[in-house]
Amino acid sequence: ATTPGKRYTITLLPGDGIGPEVISVTKKVLNLTGSLEGIEFGFKEMPMGGAALDLTGVPLPEETLSTAKQSDAVLLGAIGGYKWDKNEKHLKPETGLLQLREGLKVFANLRPASVLPQLVDASTLKKEVAEGVDLMVVRELTGGIYFGKPRGFGTNENGEEIGFNTEVYAAYEIDRIARVAFETARKRRGKLCSVDKANVLEASMFWRRRVMAIASEYPDVELTHMYVDNAAMQLVRNPKQFDTIVTNNIFGDILSDEASMITGSIGMLPSASLGAAGPGLFEPIHGSAPDIAGQDKANPLATILSAAMLLKYGLGEEKAALRIETAVLDTLSKGFRTGDIYSEQNKLVGCKEMGEEVLKSIETKI
Ligand code: ATP
Ligand code: MG
Repeated sequence: ATTPGKRYTITLLPGDGIGPEVISVTKKVLNLTGSLEGIEFGFKEMPMGGAALDLTGVPLPEETLSTAKQSDAVLLGAIGGYKWDKNEKHLKPETGLLQLREGLKVFANLRPASVLPQLVDASTLKKEVAEGVDLMVVRELTGGIYFGKPRGFGTNENGEEIGFNTEVYAAYEIDRIARVAFETARKRRGKLCSVDKANVLEASMFWRRRVMAIASEYPDVELTHMYVDNAAMQLVRNPKQFDTIVTNNIFGDILSDEASMITGSIGMLPSASLGAAGPGLFEPIHGSAPDIAGQDKANPLATILSAAMLLKYGLGEEKAALRIETAVLDTLSKGFRTGDIYSEQNKLVGCKEMGEEVLKSIETKI
């Protein structure tokens, strides 16, 4: 039975390029899923990125940010395009995205990398290695060497020029990302691997100590530790061993890109960015794909799967999320493919038709 009268406000930020196409399809998917699960969505569509620049002169209008902050979750399409590439930094669409992440105070970036049985051939790895991979990288997003001080350029004792950065993590920063990672592992297969360089770096030794301390709150999750060099190797050697990986900002930047290549299909990969309280930000990992924008060629599945993450990690509506994930698998099983994942003997469809097929599967599959 479903609880009647559940209502959530979702801010939709279609953005640029293929963004509006994939968001329009995903909105229908959310509406249908909601109607079958007793959930009502109130959508607020706001300008963001290049579209906002053209309309208002800034990439993230105040009204867009305040609407996003007041909603239960934020779903973003994609931003950017050739048109704004030469803009000054504060007038770039990408700056709007950084401001949005800051404004929402999100510090945990979740990126799943799954090799779906229907798309094993798309993987860059051998079939027997790729088959069954289903992992999640939880990356710390607001601390570490990208933000640590001191940083800059200078001279050393020999008068030579140097550049330097500092890896800094405060206890609260590690504790909160660790909790998100343990909660995530709990919603998955209950295994968490913390990746660090604790054999060399003090910041990593501290990271490992804090993660171990937080582990006592999650006796049901199995915690292991791995050095980042080994993790990078294991991700291509035997990625099936991983369930959830948690790591710092820079290691997560690198490992999540590495993990996404295992799947080999950029049009399939969703992501979530979560904070301590307040709405999470959900978006496909791909960009605005200006080369195919406006042609009904975009794969909407990355955004549809981002909506499933929104339900699962943003709203705690796990059953509704599973309904969408099941429908995506069913649609692929029936052979429907957009150009980016097409291979012989499948049915080539556009963005809208792929969306229609997912809607059909949502109604028939449970
Ligand atoms: P970013 O905007 O984040 O810098 P990018 O410019 O590096 O990203 P994308 O915009 O993601 O890259 O596009 C890279 C390639 O992948 C392009 O050829 C694009 O057409 C293709 N692509 C990206 N997303 C999709 C999608 N959803 N469906 C089909 N093809 C896609
Ligand atoms: Mg781009």
